[in-house]
Parts: sequence; structure tokens; C-alpha cells
Amino acid sequence: MSQANSEGESSGARRGAGAYQMLWDCRFCGTAKLLGVTHRHCPNCGAAQDPAWRYFPSEEDMVALDDHKYVGADVICPACSQPNSAESKFCIECGAELAAGQVVQTQGVRGIGTGVAAADTRRDVVKDQFDAEMKRAGVTKDGPGFLSTTKGRVILAAIIGVAILACAGIIYALTYSKAVTGEVEQMTWERVVNLQEYRQVPGEAWEDDVPNGAYALSCHREEHGTRRVEDGSHEECEDVDKGDGSFERQCTTVIDYRDEPVYDDRCSFTVDSWLDGRSITASGTGKQPAPDWPEVTLAGGTYGKERERARHETYAVVVRDSDGDEHTCEFDDQSDWAQYDVGAKVDLEVGIGGAADCDSLKLAS
Ligand SMILES: [Zn+2]
Ligand SMILES: [Zn+2]
Repeated sequence: MSQANSEGESSGARRGAGAYQMLWDCRFCGTAKLLGVTHRHCPNCGAAQDPAWRYFPSEEDMVALDDHKYVGADVICPACSQPNSAESKFCIECGAELAAGQVVQTQGVRGIGTGVAAADTRRDVVKDQFDAEMKRAGVTKDGPGFLSTTKGRVILAAIIGVAILACAGIIYALTYSKAVTGEVEQMTWERVVNLQEYRQVPGEAWEDDVPNGAYALSCHREEHGTRRVEDGSHEECEDVDKGDGSFERQCTTVIDYRDEPVYDDRCSFTVDSWLDGRSITASGTGKQPAPDWPEVTLAGGTYGKERERARHETYAVVVRDSDGDEHTCEFDDQSDWAQYDVGAKVDLEVGIGGAADCDSLKLAS
């Protein structure tokens, strides 16, 4: 794949890893594509190279540096601002000591990926500096921030105030309740027995997941997901400005992957198991006759036979309060329910929506 790409490129193959010259244009006489390492000064007008003017060349303008000894990014002379080799102790322009000089800013990294550098990275340095200067001076297109205006602050304060009121209202509504008196109108109970039934159940699963005891198996090969497998490799490159007029092309080999289907046995089968079946309910009103469990007759046989799985009981008291509203309170425990009788006077708390707080239900004293 990568092989075909690089051979099929008509505008020349990509240059390999290694050291190359950055380029720069002389801003004084207009000479273009000067070499970052070779031309410390413009050969036409003698102006010193400014590291800010450097750019990455296009693929066809790349000039390799054989035996380039990298000693570090250039250092700016603290006295005259000219860039000097990191090796120098004194400025080649003015002779000042360079120990306190700052390292030049580089052009960073240019990502190439699997392609080639189609164009150079020459920028309009004068315009960039002008834009940066304007930004520093605060002349930007954005107006003043919303919150830096008086109107903005007032609106924000109003929004916060409304939000606080809304929260307070919600808390009040959630916690508000009033005490009411009432009378028990009705008492009900319900007792339920859940059964299970032994059945032949059809199923389908991957072979490893077929349950124990399954029979009448029928399996076939089927795609069961995919796995990633290595599928060749390609090279990806990036150019790194070294800050001394050169850049380094660094290339790494990246492994390619593709998804390959994985096959497994898919099986249909039958398995005998207990499934949820009938529920038998007994219910009544009042305490007499006393609540009792329903009569349960389990079916027999091989398939279709039944067994008991669980029992549940619920008890309810219906209260009519002094405002005429009806409330139903439920109990799990028969003894909590049995303390009430139809006609008994009760006390109860009712929330803002009219819902009863059944934990507060008690016989009136
Ligand atoms: Zn020049
Ligand atoms: Zn100097």
C-alpha cells in the first residue's frame, strides 16, 4: 500500500529522514529561499538572518545537510539582538558576551504524515508582527466582555436572585405538610402465592454458553465478532525546526491493522427449566374473616408440574380526611394494619400536592 503510494507520486518521492536546511527570505533586498545554515547573512545585501524569518521548504526545495553537527538552537545576543551559534561565547556582530542570551524561538514541528511537503511554510512575518502588536495594545474586534459592563452585572445578579428564590420554593414545597384528622372508611388485604412451572424451553447460544443439561443441539458456523490483525506498515514523518537554521526530518514506522472475522459454533437447543407461572391471590376486606393464604393445588407430571416460588402480603387502610379527601396507606406487616378498625379516628400529615405521608398515620389520641 505505502510502496504503491510513494512510487506512484509523479512530483518526486518523499525525502528520507535526516538533517535539512531551513529557508529564509531577506526582508531588506527581497532575496528568497536563502539557506538557514549556510547563509547567516544575506549574500546579496549583507543583512543578518533573523530566525523569525525561517520557514520549512517544500519537498522540492529541500537541501540536505551532510555531516551537520547540531550544537543547539541559536542564542540571541543580549546587546544587539543578532542570533549566534550556540557554540559561540561572544557575539559575531558586536562581541558582547552571550551567556545571558535567550535561545531563539523555533518554527516548531511540521507534520507530513504519509505524504510529502507540498508547499513551504513561508508566512507574512511583517503582518504577523503587526497583528500581535495590535492584540497587545488591546485593539481587538471583540467588544468588552459582557460581565465588565454594569448592565451585564445587574442581569447576572437578577438571574442568581431568581435561581435562589426558585430553590427556596422547591425546598418549601418538598418539606411542607399539614396535619389533618380523618376516619378509616375501609380496610383491605391481599395475599399472593407465585408459582413456577417446569417446561421444555428452546434456546440459542454460542457453543461455550450452552447451558448444562441442554439437548437436541443443532449447531452451525457463524461469524462471532472480529479481531485486529497486523496488515503491513507505513511510514509517517514530521519535520522539527532545530533552531540553528536546520531541521530534522523524523520518520517512524506505523503498523497497519485490519479486522478479520472470527467464526464460532452457534447452537439451538432445548433445555428443561423452571419458568414463572401462575399467581394465586386471596383478598378480602375487614379483619373478619381473618386474612389467610389462598389454597394452592400444584399441578403434577413431568412437564407442566408446578412449585411455589414466593409469597407476598399487602394490607391497606383507606382514610377519608376532614377536608373530604381520600388517602390509601399500605402496610407490609399485618400487625401494623390490624391496629385500625373501620370507623376509627386517625391523625395524618398531608403534603402540598395532597399526598398522604403514611408514616405519620396514627390513631387519634
Ligand atoms: Zn538581502
Ligand atoms: Zn551582538
